[in-house]
Amino acid sequence: MTSMVSTTRRSTAAICENIHKLVGTCSSAASPGDGATRRVRIMEVCGTHTMAIARGGLRSLLPETLRLISGPGCPVCVTDQDYIDRAIALARRDDVIVATYGDMVRVPGRGGSLAEARAAGATVEVVYAAERAVDLARCHPQRQVVFLAVGFETTTPATALALRKARDAGVENFSVLTAHKLIIPAMRHLLAAGDVPIDAFLCPGHVSVILGWRAYEPLADGFARPCVVAGFETAQIVLGVEAICRQLADGRAAEENVYPAVTADGNHTAQALLDEVFRPADAAWRGLGVIPASGLVLRDAWGDFDAAGRFELPDADALPDVPELAHCRCGDVISGRCRPRDCGLFARRCTPSDPVGPCMVSSEGACAAAFKYERRS
Ligand code: SF4
Repeated sequence: MTSMVSTTRRSTAAICENIHKLVGTCSSAASPGDGATRRVRIMEVCGTHTMAIARGGLRSLLPETLRLISGPGCPVCVTDQDYIDRAIALARRDDVIVATYGDMVRVPGRGGSLAEARAAGATVEVVYAAERAVDLARCHPQRQVVFLAVGFETTTPATALALRKARDAGVENFSVLTAHKLIIPAMRHLLAAGDVPIDAFLCPGHVSVILGWRAYEPLADGFARPCVVAGFETAQIVLGVEAICRQLADGRAAEENVYPAVTADGNHTAQALLDEVFRPADAAWRGLGVIPASGLVLRDAWGDFDAAGRFELPDADALPDVPELAHCRCGDVISGRCRPRDCGLFARRCTPSDPVGPCMVSSEGACAAAFKYERRS
């Protein structure tokens, strides 16, 4: 089942008022009780949504029986510990410069973070675009530059373009360590596992610009859960929530789009670029484990640019079996099992200036959002 883009000039207050009316009549597949026991649980899977929801104080505008829960939408937060350890091992080599987006620098692995490795002499450079890492390689022909390629479908095209740029310019000392992720397999994984009650997904705007809103049809049809793509302004998010509540009240489950920037079939050019450079592969997610076909690795034709093939990296099985960050509940936060404030370290031992886990490190992490905007509520 599909729906059309809807636009509105209604105020946020008017939309919220309608949500209050609708939510009492919503049926909840995940929480089928009624009256006071029924909760409608909507999961957002986009770090930008997570931040916007907290910044806009949306939870306080919505009915108490409607819960917005954060899912695996922050690319830094879902990057697993083994990947960080491999990146640190690379950065410690004398012949390597690791280039990365800024948020990755403070994410903890088993043996510290890239920031700590840099303080101890490793070379880690922050770049704001993947192509800058290629420029870095040109400037340092005597060193190998490895770009940490993380993120969802939004950032993956930039990695692909950087690889094309390196290939076309003959930059041989450039490679990527890939941990790119696909969001839909993770959403499917959460629904199939069934241990986290989810009535509907608020689908990410940026990712959906690439994928198109029809990409969520298998989730909506296969699991009978509304999947609604929304933009990032407060009014756009509540519009998405309203569309979900309307579906739940009608007993429907469809993919739907309320973000005019998103088309039904997405950006064909970007999709072709991704398909040229990457192929799906199983991937490890922090908090969710290994999810089949949920990551992207380089196709054989691009294998020369694969840092995993170019360098000897620590094997996951050979790494010390250290538990993930004692007492940090990032895995539960990422998978919607708990809220940031349910973690005993939240706002005590763990703060944005002294973070313990990636959900507080990342500027799009649920714990950072809750600390910044919802701590006193
Ligand atoms: S508050 Fe800190 S320690 Fe707790 S889950 Fe969030 S990031 Fe981890």
